[in-house]
Order: sequence, then C-alpha cells, then structure tokens
Amino acid sequence: MSTATSALAIDRAANLRALNSFGLPAVAHTLVHVRSDADVRRVLDHAELGRAPKLVLGGGSNLVLTRDPDEVVLRVEVLGKRLIAERPEAWIVEAGAGENWHELVAWTLEQGWPGLENLALIPGTVGAAPVQNIGAYGLEMADRFESLDAVSLVTGRVVTLDARACAFAYRDSVFKRSGYGGLAGKCLITRVRLRLPKPWQPVLGYLDIERRMAETGQRTPDARTLFDWVCAIRRAKLPDPAQIGNAGSFFKNPVVSAEQCRDIIGRDPHIVHYALPDGRFKLAAGWLIEACGWRGKRIGQAGVYERQALVLVNCGGATGAEVVTLARAIQESVYGRFGIRLEPEPLLL
Ligand SMILES: Cc1cc2nc3c(=O)[nH]c(=O)nc-3n(C[C@H](O)[C@H](O)[C@H](O)COP(=O)(O)OP(=O)(O)OC[C@H]3O[C@@H](n4cnc5c(N)ncnc54)[C@H](O)[C@@H]3O)c2cc1C
Repeated sequence: MSTATSALAIDRAANLRALNSFGLPAVAHTLVHVRSDADVRRVLDHAELGRAPKLVLGGGSNLVLTRDPDEVVLRVEVLGKRLIAERPEAWIVEAGAGENWHELVAWTLEQGWPGLENLALIPGTVGAAPVQNIGAYGLEMADRFESLDAVSLVTGRVVTLDARACAFAYRDSVFKRSGYGGLAGKCLITRVRLRLPKPWQPVLGYLDIERRMAETGQRTPDARTLFDWVCAIRRAKLPDPAQIGNAGSFFKNPVVSAEQCRDIIGRDPHIVHYALPDGRFKLAAGWLIEACGWRGKRIGQAGVYERQALVLVNCGGATGAEVVTLARAIQESVYGRFGIRLEPEPLLL
C-alpha cells in the first residue's frame, strides 16, 4: 500500500523480491521513494522515520537479503541526465543517482560522448556505481569520475565529493567502509558527474576484447563496436537476472603478494593470475572456486552458475540463508586448498 505524507511517497509492508536481482524473499516494513535531496530531508524531519536506522537501496543488484530489513528502506529514484560542461579535454556529464547505469552508458554514446562503453550492461543504478567503484573489461568508474553529491543521513547536509574524498580502490570506496572516516550507511548519493576524456581512446588489452579483435580482424574498434562486443561477451558469460536470480561476481578477485603467489603456483601451476603494477598479483576467484569442484553444485536452491563459477545463482525459490551457506562452504574449501580467504563482493544483509 502506498501513501503520500508531506509529499513523501511511502510504501508499507513492501515486498522486496522484485527489487533485488537475486530474487530473494524479504519485506520492508517501510520503503520510501526518494526522488530529490529534499525527500531525504523530509525523511530526517519525519517524526517516525527521522530517527529510524536506514538502508539505501538502488537496483538491488549487489545485495543478498538474508532477512526482512529492520531499517527504513530508502529507494533511490533521483532522475535526470545532462551534459554540464564541455572542456577541451573532456565532456562532463551529470546523472541522477536513480538513473539506470546501462541506459546512461548507451545514452552518452548516442550523444557522441564515448568513454563508458567498457562498463556497458552492468546492472543497477548510477548512484551505486561509485559505492563499489564498478569495473569491467579494463575500466573502472574511478577512471571516468569527476565528482558526486551526497546527502548526509544524519544532518541532511549536501556535500560534493571528488575522487580523492571517495577513496576509490578495487571494488571499494569510502561508501563501503565503516568506522572512522568511512561513510557506509551514512549518506545517500543523489547525483554523479563523469568525465569523458577527449580525444576518445579505446580501452583494449583485456583478453576477451583481444579475442574479438583477432576474430573480426578489427585492430582499431570504435566506441560503438566496443560497446556491442562488451554486451555480447557479457550476455554469453553471465546469467540475465531477469531469467536467473544472481548478483554478478559473488567474490572479489583476491590480491596476493609475489611470495604468496609463488606458493600457490607451487600447489597448482595452472592457477590464473595477473601481475599488478605494484608487484602484487591478482588471482581469478572464479578459477579457484572451479578448481575446488564447485561449478554447477548447489546447496538447497542456491547454486554455482554452470558457465561461470564466480556467479552464485538462485535456482528457484532460494532464500538468502541458503545463498550465504553456499558462499561460506565455498570460502572454506578455497581456504582449505589454497590458503586464500575469498571476500564477498555484494552487501550481505
Ligand atoms: C548480472 C550482474 C553482473 C554484474 N556485473 C558487474 C561488473 O561487471 N562489475 C561490477 O563492478 N559490478 C557488477 N555487478 C554488481 C552490481 O551491478 C553493481 O555493484 C551495481 O553498481 C549495483 O547497483 P545497484 O543500484 O543495484 O545497487 P544496490 O544493490 O541497490 O546497492 C549496493 C550497495 O550500494 C548502496 N547504495 C546504492 N545506491 C546508493 C546511493 N544512491 N547512495 C548511497 N549508497 C547507495 C547500497 O546501500 C548497497 O550497500 C553485477 C551484478 C549483476 C547482477
């Protein structure tokens, strides 16, 4: 049931199953549709909602709901996208946090402002993109980031943060960190500004993209071609959440020291690993999981995707508890065999 009090749109007993890409069952006692900065302040000033703990929800594609949230759910629906500046070295584009990320990527390309094509088809909203510094095919959000606006969920104050303040790292940012200086759960991002560099340069060098270049003979793909390749590669590899519930990669690729990497290669010479500029190595988490025999296995209705062991899926009617049980079993077996602790990428709630 939806009610509007003092211009706030509030749903009571809101079913969250369709609002998370895993399709997990959960009910929010209160869900507020946040369409502006002013809506956040209205929530904070609200007699009942103001003091309650809050959970910010975008497209629900990086969440595992293991319970009905105790928090008031703030569903981000701030819309709008526009070019705010054109400089000799870049186009600066601003988008509301509730805009769909993939549609923004497609729209910038249509407008003639390329630069985001490697991040095509990543599910979710624009506002969540900085939270885990989304990345794919050799590009991260941080590479195209200009600044963002966020509203404090404590004071209602609006702040503008640059990349330094966001402290981006691999699938990480200040918005994922709790404790001193961390902003996890403390603010709601309302608008994001992206810097699309001129002249456009393709980001190549990723194995799947190089394979396409070899197959097609196109050594200098344009932005539209790269966009189409990325979409095709992703569709072939990853399950569509509309068909099979999932949250994309379930674990981060672990980063280890050169010494640890040598030790692991000693245990299994075939391990997939990439050298990082700082001398450490990134290991393919999907490979580690597959090596432990998990591909296609399931616990209850939670399973490991047949085509990509890094993706856990809802085989139909799974609960969040089943997904977490499966994730823990995988973590234990990878630790037992390789001595590596896999860290989940989505928020486990
Ligand atoms: C099939 C599939 C493929 C994927 N592929 C990739 C990939 O290639 N690369 C990648 O990086 N990720 C990938 N993901 C993960 C996911 O798409 C991204 O993390 C995405 O940015 C999540 O967006 P969302 O709006 O769904 O966030 P949600 O799941 O709603 O929220 C995620 C987190 O961000 C917080 N949050 C959301 N919006 C805001 C806001 N406006 N202000 C403050 N906090 C907020 C939430 O509280 C939560 O902690 C994939 C997921 C799926 C299902």
